[in-house]
Amino acid sequence: MSTQPLPFSQASSLAPDCRHYRGDKPCFANRLCGGCDHYAPYDARICIIKLGALGDVVRTLCILPELRSQYRNAQITWITKPNAARMLAGHPDIDRLLVFDAINAMTLMREEFDLMICLDKEAEPAGLAMGIQAKKKLGVGLSRHGTPIPLNDEAVSYFELGLSDDLKFNLNTKTYQELVYSAFGWQYNKQRYTLPLDADERAKHVSRLSEQGWDEARPTLGINVGAGKVFANKMWPAGKQAALIQELKALEPGLQVLLLGGPDERPIIDEIIRKLDLAGASEGVFDGETHHKEPAFVALVDLCTVLLSGDTMAMHVAIALEKGVVVLFGPTCQQEIALYGQGEKLVADVACGPCYKRTCDQGDVCLDAVEMDDAVKAVRRVLQQKLAGQGVSKARELSLPVLRYRQAG
Ligand code: SF4
Ligand code: SF4
Repeated sequence: MSTQPLPFSQASSLAPDCRHYRGDKPCFANRLCGGCDHYAPYDARICIIKLGALGDVVRTLCILPELRSQYRNAQITWITKPNAARMLAGHPDIDRLLVFDAINAMTLMREEFDLMICLDKEAEPAGLAMGIQAKKKLGVGLSRHGTPIPLNDEAVSYFELGLSDDLKFNLNTKTYQELVYSAFGWQYNKQRYTLPLDADERAKHVSRLSEQGWDEARPTLGINVGAGKVFANKMWPAGKQAALIQELKALEPGLQVLLLGGPDERPIIDEIIRKLDLAGASEGVFDGETHHKEPAFVALVDLCTVLLSGDTMAMHVAIALEKGVVVLFGPTCQQEIALYGQGEKLVADVACGPCYKRTCDQGDVCLDAVEMDDAVKAVRRVLQQKLAGQGVSKARELSLPVLRYRQAG
């Protein structure tokens, strides 16, 4: 008995190439496919593998506008981790979102794609990239030695950046977006990344915070108080953040502050609130709470006019939502981050950075070198521009805000 799939056409009772076809249950038309007026076949199949850190996945969404312009009617499948899948669910340019697991990997290896893109250098996703059948493959794959390798000539420079700290930290001047586009041989024209917004989650936040006195009509500064545990020194300690809030509240009386973070940031949020309470300055400061799943966190960031953050996932969410941003850079590479004219960078120019270290062996000097006064001024500038309905000028993003600080002492 043949195991070859049956040939299908619109005249057939089944149309597995139709974007509405489910196979295991009726589609919205609830009929057999033959002669169906709603038949809408994809003309190409694209598979993207991007697991990585959550912020990294979010900024990689910048490839979707270009893919849609090249393959307008393609089916785009995105394979990622469960937390990123929750955040990307409902993205209008992703037709199929799959979690990276053994069952999905087995299924994917039975499918055929026109284009496969992998941007992860770990062995597991790179191995899946090799197993997937596609007419064209871009990005990263796995050598027969089990090590990651570039799959196309244009991806070699992107790949090399991960092999030399000097190249990545000192010589590279390109943003992540420019690097990725050139790795695929595409022209980068400042294509943006966007995220879906869960209106129900947003409404829940508005309701809860309004009960505490938060006013949606007034400007809100979100402060992402931490940065998880991966890198050292991505954000200031609680005392400096509390002092910044006091200063800003004195200068901008109508400003509300929303403290953001994940479960790891619960202690620092509590400490900031405790310090503000002691100083009698906690009015207008709201606890965003730290237990949210990804769509709820995105909705929380959407309540902010401007976000102050380290180089974090929250920063990428704010950029995706077109919020104003002020970003502190210590151990990571500021040049890789594109703010799309939405804000300013405060870069600690210390001899030991960037370093991407998990724990600092240099006395945590980097973010300490960024003056609070400069952060206050940057927040006020970006706030005024957002409230005036303006983007932040390109010149400001590219030169002025890249304030560089010398290591004290
Ligand atoms: S829309 Fe029509 S062609 Fe498409 S799956 Fe449904 S019944 Fe079949
Ligand atoms: S080594 Fe330098 S750049 Fe890295 S975390 Fe420590 S102070 Fe910051």
